[in-house]
Amino acid sequence: AKRVPGLSVRLADAGYVRGSGASLQAEQALRAGLHNEEFLLVFQPKVAADDGRLTGFEALVRWQRPGVGIVSPADFIPAAERTGLIGALGALILDKACAQIAAWLAADEPVVPVAVNVSPLQLLDPDFAGLVARSMALHRVPPQFLTIEITETAAATHLDQARERIGEFRALGLHVALDDFGAGVSSLNILRSLPLQTVKIDRLLIDPMPAADAQAVVRAVCQLARALQLKVVAEGVETAPQAEAARDVGCDEFQGYFFSRPLPAADAVAWLRRSRL
Ligand code: C2E
Ligand code: CA
Ligand code: CA
Ligand code: CA
Repeated sequence: AKRVPGLSVRLADAGYVRGSGASLQAEQALRAGLHNEEFLLVFQPKVAADDGRLTGFEALVRWQRPGVGIVSPADFIPAAERTGLIGALGALILDKACAQIAAWLAADEPVVPVAVNVSPLQLLDPDFAGLVARSMALHRVPPQFLTIEITETAAATHLDQARERIGEFRALGLHVALDDFGAGVSSLNILRSLPLQTVKIDRLLIDPMPAADAQAVVRAVCQLARALQLKVVAEGVETAPQAEAARDVGCDEFQGYFFSRPLPAADAVAWLRRSRL
């Protein structure tokens, strides 16, 4: 099998702790999946609220398990975290994202930034920014094409490490977004105490739109974000009235099934080409 950089990261080196309840079966299946290259990325478009132009993609991992079908990340990311395999899986995801950006650049496509999700455990790895830098260097990906998404919960739980990592990402020239904002126990302090550029408002707050109370909450988040010079993305936009309400209360960008499902790279490229017209 092809050697993937970062896959050689040992659990102990990365400081990951193996939970005592780790399921050996899940671990073996994940290990086999990594070995057999059963993981792939799909790409969901993000669009501008004002004119609908493509502003970026979010890379989302899928597990194509022989005899099982496509497994969703909600069903294996927790197991990967429990078993410590998230280090290897995360490195593979980064490598795949950088490889895809590089392939689009090489094909002269009008590339947009690709956002990669980061697990709380990766945030705790003191060498994580180094891993990102090595992946970018290997594929010669300029930093403006890579965005890092960190969930609000992860950042709030590990505020000091999050601040350190985000500082390192910014030093590399990467864009950093706070993911799932408003879904957990939110702390407004987090918005000012981390060097973020974007806030993604969780689907939980977008779903009840255009109800007046939901609009009031999202409007307040947008005003706060604007005062802090943060861009706001509305997540999980599924209907035209939701998109309209999200735009009216000040969201800058949308992501959701109303615009597009996550797409295989071959279909995502059509969005890139359309954006050039
Ligand atoms: P997330 O980062 O909040 O990603 C957005 C999720 O919402 C994706 O689910 C996406 O398919 C889904 N989604 C997008 N638009 C809509 C919509 O309009 N309606 C609804 N109902 N859902 C929508 P997905 O791909 O199943 O991923 C679930 C979660 O798994 C992600 O939530 C993220 O936390 C995690 N995840 C996915 N890929 C990765 C990855 O590469 N690394 C890590 N560490 N976690 C990942
Ligand atoms: Ca995300
Ligand atoms: Ca999210
Ligand atoms: Ca989420």
